[in-house]
Amino acid sequence: MTASELRKMFVDFFKEKGHKVIASASLMPENDPTVLFTTAGMHPLVPYLLGESHPQGRRLTSIQKCLRTGDIDEVGDDTHLTFFEMMGNWSLGDYFKEEVISMSFDFLTNVLNIPIERIAVTVFEGDLTVPKDTETEAIWKNKGLKQTQIYAYGREENWWGPPGQTGPCGPDTEIFYDMGKAKCSDHCGPACKCGKYVEIWNLVFMKFKREADGSFTEFKQKNVDTGMGLERVLTIFNGKTNVYDTELFIPVMTHLNNIIGELDAIMSIRDKRIICEHIRAVCFILGDTQKICPSNTEQGYILRRLIRRMIRLFKKAGINQNYLCDLAEVIIRQYQDAYPELAENQTFIKEQLQNEIDLFLKTLDMGLKKADQYLEKTDINTALSGELAFKLYDTYGFPIEFTCELARERGRSVDMESFREKFTAHQNKSREGAAEKFKGGLADHSMETARLHTATHLLNAALRKVLGDE
Ligand code: ATP
Ligand code: MG
Ligand code: MG
Ligand code: MG
Repeated sequence: MTASELRKMFVDFFKEKGHKVIASASLMPENDPTVLFTTAGMHPLVPYLLGESHPQGRRLTSIQKCLRTGDIDEVGDDTHLTFFEMMGNWSLGDYFKEEVISMSFDFLTNVLNIPIERIAVTVFEGDLTVPKDTETEAIWKNKGLKQTQIYAYGREENWWGPPGQTGPCGPDTEIFYDMGKAKCSDHCGPACKCGKYVEIWNLVFMKFKREADGSFTEFKQKNVDTGMGLERVLTIFNGKTNVYDTELFIPVMTHLNNIIGELDAIMSIRDKRIICEHIRAVCFILGDTQKICPSNTEQGYILRRLIRRMIRLFKKAGINQNYLCDLAEVIIRQYQDAYPELAENQTFIKEQLQNEIDLFLKTLDMGLKKADQYLEKTDINTALSGELAFKLYDTYGFPIEFTCELARERGRSVDMESFREKFTAHQNKSREGAAEKFKGGLADHSMETARLHTATHLLNAALRKVLGDE
C-alpha cells in the first residue's frame, strides 16, 4: 500500500460514513499564540469543539500536517517523527463512544485487514474524581477483544485535557498494534517502551468540563476527536518494523546512502534517520506558507535547530553540507502531488536552507574549535562549563542540545544548571529591553513578553529533556 492509497482509503471510509473532508490547515496555528506549530488534527477545530457551529457540519475528517517539537529527542527510534501526517475524524456533538469505536474497528479489521489478535487497546482506569471507563471496555469486548488485549491506565496515559486548566477534557482509548515480539517482562503492555506495542490511533471522548474548583461536570457538547499517524500505519500495513523502511523515507535514505558511499564516509543509522527526518520536516516548515525563516525566536528557532543539527551531523561524517539541498529536492519531488505547496515554494525552501548552511558554517568551525580546546585542556571528569555553553549558544549559534550532543560524544556532560542561569539572566535582560522598547504600547509589549516567555518555556522544556527531568 502506498501513502496516497492510504490517505484515500481513510478519507473515503469516513466520507462514506457521512463526514465532510476538510483540508489540512497550515503547520502554523492561526489565532493561537500559545503553541508554535499545529500538533494534532484537532488543533484547527478548537472553536468548534468548544461549541461553535462548523459550516461543514458535525462529522468531519482530515489529514493534517503536524509538527511536534517535543518529540525531537525521540527521532531516530522506529516510530517518532517531528513532522508527520495525522489522519483524523471528529464528531462535534454527534456520535459518541459506541459508534466511533465501531467505525475504527471496522477500518482496522476490514479495510486494513489487521487481524484482531494483533490489536491491543487501553482505557481510563478511573481515579477519585472520575470513575473507570467501563463503557469503553465493554464496547471493545463486544467487538471480540479478549480481556488480555485490554489494558487500563491512569491519567498519564488515558486522559486528554490541558493539565490544571479549565475546559473540555475526558478519557481516551488508544489503539496499539502488537508487533509480534515477546513481552519484555510480565508487566509489559502498551505503555511499555520496549517496542512490542506501537500506538496507531487515539480516540478521545471529550465528555467533561473541568471547572475552576477542579471538579468535573458533563460537557454540554460531547465530542469525539481521533488521530492516527499515517507513517505508522503505513509501516505496519506493509509489514515493516520502522517508518524509515516505508516508501516515504526510502528515496531520501537511498540518496543519502549514495552520497555517503561515494564519499566513503561513515554515519550511524541513527544519524542517518535524524537527517532523513529533519530534512523532511524542514521542507514542510519552509514550504508551508513562506512565513517562517530560520531565526532566533519561535518557529524560526525550531527550524534553525533542525537545520543546524543536520549540518553538524554532516560535518561529523565529513560530508559537504551543500548536499542537504539535494536531499531537500528528493523530498519536494516525492511530496509534490499530495502537498503542492512544496513544489510551489521550492525556490524559497532551497534558498533558505542554503542561506542557513552558509551562515552557520561561518561560526561552526570556530565554535567547534573552542569547544574542543576547552575539552582537551580540562579534566575528563568535569562538565563543559555553563559559561562556555552559553557562549557557544550566543556567539556561535549552537543550540544547547547540540552542545550537549557534542559533549556526550566526547564522554563529557554540560553544566546545565549554570547554563540555565546564564540563559535566564540573558532572557531577563532582553525582556527589560523589550519592555523599554514598547513603552506606551501595551498590546505590543504584552505580545513581545509573551513571545519571550514562549522562547524561555521552550528552552526550559528542551533543557528538562536533555537533563532527563521528563
Ligand atoms: P506516542 O505515545 O507514541 O508518543 P502519542 O500518544 O503522543 O503517541 P497522540 O497525541 O495520541 O500520540 O497522537 C495521535 C496519533 O498520532 C498517535 O496514535 C500516533 O499514531 C501518531 N503520532 C503521535 N506522535 C507521533 C510522532 N511523533 N511521529 C509519528 N506519529 C505520531
Ligand atoms: Mg507522544
Ligand atoms: Mg501515547
Ligand atoms: Mg496517544
